[in-house]
Amino acid sequence: MIEEAKQYIPGGVQHNLAFNYPFPLAVAKAEGPYLYDVDGNRYVDYLQAGGPTLLGSNYLPVQEKAISVIKESGPCTGLFHEYEMKLAKIIHENMPWVEMYRSLASGTEADMIAIRIARTFTGKQRIVKMGGAYHGFSDQLVYSLHIPGTKTFEAHGIPKEVSANTREFYPGDIDGLRKVLEANEKEGGTAAVIVEPLGPESGTRMVSENFNAKVRELCDEFGALLIFDEVVTAFRMGPGGAQGYFNVKPDLTVFGKIVAGGYPMAGGVGGRADIMSCVAAGVKPGKPKAYVGGTLSANPLSCAAGYYAIQEIIKQDAAKKAGENGDKLCEGLVKLIDQYELPFVAWNIGSIVHFEISGVMYLSVEDPELMQKIPARQHCIEEFGAALTANGVITLAGSRIYTSMADNDETIAFTLNAFEDIFKNL
Ligand code: PMP
Repeated sequence: MIEEAKQYIPGGVQHNLAFNYPFPLAVAKAEGPYLYDVDGNRYVDYLQAGGPTLLGSNYLPVQEKAISVIKESGPCTGLFHEYEMKLAKIIHENMPWVEMYRSLASGTEADMIAIRIARTFTGKQRIVKMGGAYHGFSDQLVYSLHIPGTKTFEAHGIPKEVSANTREFYPGDIDGLRKVLEANEKEGGTAAVIVEPLGPESGTRMVSENFNAKVRELCDEFGALLIFDEVVTAFRMGPGGAQGYFNVKPDLTVFGKIVAGGYPMAGGVGGRADIMSCVAAGVKPGKPKAYVGGTLSANPLSCAAGYYAIQEIIKQDAAKKAGENGDKLCEGLVKLIDQYELPFVAWNIGSIVHFEISGVMYLSVEDPELMQKIPARQHCIEEFGAALTANGVITLAGSRIYTSMADNDETIAFTLNAFEDIFKNL
């Protein structure tokens, strides 16, 4: 199937988060903690579609609601629908700092619009991101993607001028952020600082416990808005997301993934009512307006799936259960790494588990010695991801594991066995 797909799809696949080596998987079925390929092989699924399926794949109570919404209203009308309001309201009830919310089609769109709203509201141009972070693939935000300091890394096809107003600071480096903010003052100031509150790439590069509070203080000092990208962390880190976990109030929050409960079109931006009102200000002539569109945004299917998924996540205490599964898995992994005396590290915050080669998490172009290790790291992790898949375990690119509520002692034991089988052969 993949060979045939290569004739019609560049590289054969669109989704390359699991691995493409030695060949991609063709998935036929997703259920609870498992995926099944077209050959009938079963895998424990820690990719979780990239994060949205906190309840487990194809969770029946949400599926039933989604089907009934399609039957009743159809998937899309292009007009206001009750679920558009219900989704915004349930997000606000759990994350009170998100006073108003606007649905979009993806996390990428939501990040893109968040910085547009920040610029409209503040009248300033510059934005600052944490180096290495992923905020989707829009032109301005691929700046310093994956590896701090790379600036236009992977940015072919994007004119240099696009990032003229984007600056970065090294992950967790508060003094560095202050310097960037000070420099921006000479260039009209900073509209917003955007961070993944766990650290770039869902905490692949960790930040300290009080990091977000310090960023908040600096934003207040320099009159910049604070944007939390909670595409991964919202509802996964608990009902209040990362902002509840760290008890730090952002001005704007970016959503994706779980806000459509694993269904298509997962994205949205929310925050302070006065700031969010910028997207509607066009109705009052003379007021600055951040333009937002989207034919399928806020369609009934996505909103209803998100609404019912969030309801179930709260009712089932899914973040806590998934987090306990993450703790168990990570503890087992750390033990195995010690036992086999291998140069790996594993760490987690609840259901977000990382597995890495020791010493390469802090890659930066400023450290040429470490940068030389990138191809070796890539190759090793790629081999590792493929070996895990051959042992029946799917991860995010071999180095990240999202646990869900559907995991259990059996799936965790199976996974640790798979790791041990590989460790034995290293
Ligand atoms: N921000 C973060 C932190 C993400 O992890 C992602 C997706 N992995 C995005 C933004 C982009 O979301 P989407 O893929 O829905 O465009």
